[in-house]
Amino acid sequence: MDLVNRIVEKMKSENVRWIDIHFVDVPGRLQHVTFPARELLDDPESAFQIAIGGFDGSSITDFTMINESDMLLRPVPETFALIPDDWQSPPGVAAGRTARMIAQIFWGGYKKGEAPRFEKDPRYIAEKAEQYLAEQGYKAYFGPEVEFTIFDSLKVDVTQPWARMSVEINSREAPWNTELPIMRFKQGYFPANPNDKLFWIRQEISNVLEDYFDLQVEAHHHEVAGAGQGEIDFRFDTATRAADKVITLKYVVKNVAAKYGMVATFMPKPIYADNGNGMHTHQSLWDIKTDKNLFYDPNDEYAELSQLARYYIGGILKHARALSAIVNPTTSSYKRLVPGYEAPIYIAWSKGNRSAIIRVPSYMKGIEKAARIEYRSPDPSTNPYLAFAAMVAAGLDGIKKKIEPPDPVDENIYAMDPKKRRELEEIVKKQLGTKLQLPSSLCEALEELENDYEWLFPIFSKEMIETWLELKWEECRKIGAYPHPVEYYEYFDI
Ligand code: GLU
Ligand code: MG
Ligand code: MG
Repeated sequence: MDLVNRIVEKMKSENVRWIDIHFVDVPGRLQHVTFPARELLDDPESAFQIAIGGFDGSSITDFTMINESDMLLRPVPETFALIPDDWQSPPGVAAGRTARMIAQIFWGGYKKGEAPRFEKDPRYIAEKAEQYLAEQGYKAYFGPEVEFTIFDSLKVDVTQPWARMSVEINSREAPWNTELPIMRFKQGYFPANPNDKLFWIRQEISNVLEDYFDLQVEAHHHEVAGAGQGEIDFRFDTATRAADKVITLKYVVKNVAAKYGMVATFMPKPIYADNGNGMHTHQSLWDIKTDKNLFYDPNDEYAELSQLARYYIGGILKHARALSAIVNPTTSSYKRLVPGYEAPIYIAWSKGNRSAIIRVPSYMKGIEKAARIEYRSPDPSTNPYLAFAAMVAAGLDGIKKKIEPPDPVDENIYAMDPKKRRELEEIVKKQLGTKLQLPSSLCEALEELENDYEWLFPIFSKEMIETWLELKWEECRKIGAYPHPVEYYEYFDI
């Protein structure tokens, strides 16, 4: 039985009444619109081939202009999943069995079967990245490690920016809210229960991911930050599907938290002086025909890494500063990317070194399928479709231009003797034409992207890059213009 028939059968046997269609806007926020199940059951063929329904593209951040706003949604059958019944409907309210599907977006206003894809649909860009890989005989796998924070409650007041700005965070693990045992700052990795007061919720999230959304969880654990930080890892997948899984994971984490009156955030730096939320991304290239891992070379003594993998690393390192504007796209991102919190800031690669933006995991040798690199600067405030697509573009630029990365740096670069670090700076400048450090602000990253974006072209359109720059410039200017409460603390008496 093919997938469409299986979905129809499942919808009937589970009494599915509603279909919730998901997609993300340009910044990466999950959007949804809900259709009655009959829209699909009456004519599944055309729902899956053409569209299940339409929407107004001009009301979605950075999609379309008001005069060209009719868009169509084509659900992707592989993303079909039932949504747990007990989410967000108060006890006693029967909201109706609901299934979700992630959709591809098409332009409206065309004849049946002729509608073109909407170029700024982030999922389309990830799909294009896979096409670009395939044209060159590759396929790529991505394994993101998504970190997040779950608080018991959060109250933010910015209603009167000039007179009242406050954030109140409550966490059952935080020293300011709870009796012992607590999770101390930067010591959240791995004290067992009863210190780990969020074990049960990560466990429920993982159950939902596996049982409902078909995500295979590889591990879940408390993360290094004290109050409420966690991580859930799932099995690697291709760019588009891995990004589907990231948006699914964020959706599930937020909704399970909401079910218990808690709140989850993926912002990169929710608490000063503690670790932030990263999204390290493991990746490897495979031969599309022979299914061989092209990053593996048993004869390489340093890390069993092939020359192709080195060029891929070269591409990421060379464009790392511009890439930051995509993989670290919020002002909060740059509060995470500072020394002392396991977030990397140096444009270097290595085996075990967590101060370098690329690490080659070295738990085990001699296993072809495990050969990969871990790109450590990305964080979960990124749009994962754009992020994985941009990584592909940078890595393949490295392969195309045979960009040889400098030698690996196994020393902690934060603690490096300044003279030695200057030497390293020179090498990086000479060999890659870049600075040694990642940008220290969103504005700096955007300037970098403005001057270094041609490598994105095989996958991103110029219009998409311009849209992104415009959106993000506005964000960094606006947030930078706010008087910050800590400025009062530091400068009031000057
Ligand atoms: N939370 C750290 C970061 O911001 C990463 C910790 C780890 O998983 O090594 O990247
Ligand atoms: Mg982690
Ligand atoms: Mg990691």
